[in-house]
Amino acid sequence: MAHHGYERSEAMFAEALKVIPGGVNSPVRAFKSVGRNPVFIDRANGAYLYDVDGNRYIDYVQSWGPMIVGHNHPEVAEVLKAAVDRGTSYGAPTELETKLANMVLEAFPAMDKVRMVNSGTEATMSALRLARGFTGRSKIVKFEGCYHGHADSLLIKAGSGALTFGVPTSPGVPANIAANTITAPYNDLETLREIFAQVGSDIAAVIIEGVPGNMGVVPPRPGYLQGVRELTQEFGALLIFDEVMSGFRVAYGGAQSRYKIDPDITCLGKIIGGGLPVGAYGGKAEIMEKISPAGPIYQAGTLSGNPLAMTAGIATLNILKRPGTYDELEKKAAYLADGLAQAAQDAGVAVSTNRVGAMFTGFFTEQPVNDFASAFTSDTEAFATYFRAMLDRGVYLACSQFEAAFMSLAHTQEDLDATIAAARESFQVVAES
Ligand code: PMP
Repeated sequence: MAHHGYERSEAMFAEALKVIPGGVNSPVRAFKSVGRNPVFIDRANGAYLYDVDGNRYIDYVQSWGPMIVGHNHPEVAEVLKAAVDRGTSYGAPTELETKLANMVLEAFPAMDKVRMVNSGTEATMSALRLARGFTGRSKIVKFEGCYHGHADSLLIKAGSGALTFGVPTSPGVPANIAANTITAPYNDLETLREIFAQVGSDIAAVIIEGVPGNMGVVPPRPGYLQGVRELTQEFGALLIFDEVMSGFRVAYGGAQSRYKIDPDITCLGKIIGGGLPVGAYGGKAEIMEKISPAGPIYQAGTLSGNPLAMTAGIATLNILKRPGTYDELEKKAAYLADGLAQAAQDAGVAVSTNRVGAMFTGFFTEQPVNDFASAFTSDTEAFATYFRAMLDRGVYLACSQFEAAFMSLAHTQEDLDATIAAARESFQVVAES
């Protein structure tokens, strides 16, 4: 396809910069870490994004995960259009909410009840309050490299040396809140055991990504999640599985079905909204019954359970639950990840690939990546060069080394082969840079 340049995107970005901080409504979109300005999107269909200059991209960002059935899927678009005709928000109960709740509970047997919210951030933030309210404890444990949205308690990194004091990763997060978040290395059961030995009776919950995708894809080591589950149980802490990314992505029942883990609370987002703003948190009945108005722990939302969002979510899950869906996603993701790895090798570029189901990351490093430290051995300059070369060749990747690529049902064999062909050229650009 002929390339039309980026003139209109550049002009729109210049205008956006005047009125929106950094020109974007979510930081990673700004393409800062890949050393260029973002492209502005005009529309999307199937596996493709179309920018305002008329360029077409094969899309592996998928709106950061939700568009797993493809953009503008006719079965989703049709019911959404009909839903608009019935009014866009009531702030009162609808049967749609019960329907989506039932679909979620059916997919995730660890949940007895579920509450809808509007984003992944809201889901994890609410799950933490619930865990603290339920246990009467204040500390939480999170893992280095796992992202759970931007609530104060979760924008925390490990403090130097001390196991038990977190440090804010953003100005504006009070130190006394950071002090209640302990950050542990991922995939390291020994350190977690030490933390529990020291302060286990103060820990309300451990929160973990089902499959971490926010340092790039880093699968749990065999037995690791089981170990985390056992430790939390032993000390009476809750296990919160953040499946905002992995839910309905690595399997219909998420990472917990793949790895056979029974968490106390699960957080969802992205896919369950089918591209509209939705999050959810759910868990065991005795825990969920503590949420207002059933119980005393407060959490609310003007637009929660919004009829358009529920409609898009239900339609998306209806497509996903058909037999063969996840086999198809897995096969296509494996084909592409293997093809890209081969292309890198042929160009003499060191890439270490991790994949779980329909999400994967190629890290520009020789090392196997199994935690935050090994992910950070990646050559982010090489990634940036690769990213820009792929963009120029009509492939839209996540604009950071530390993100996942997502496969959708809409990607065709032709799309995958075109992507690998673009990658062959792009790795060559990296090798020559
Ligand atoms: N948890 C995980 C695992 C995520 O990947 C994300 C978003 N990428 C969030 C939480 C936050 O979700 P949101 O951006 O919808 O607030």
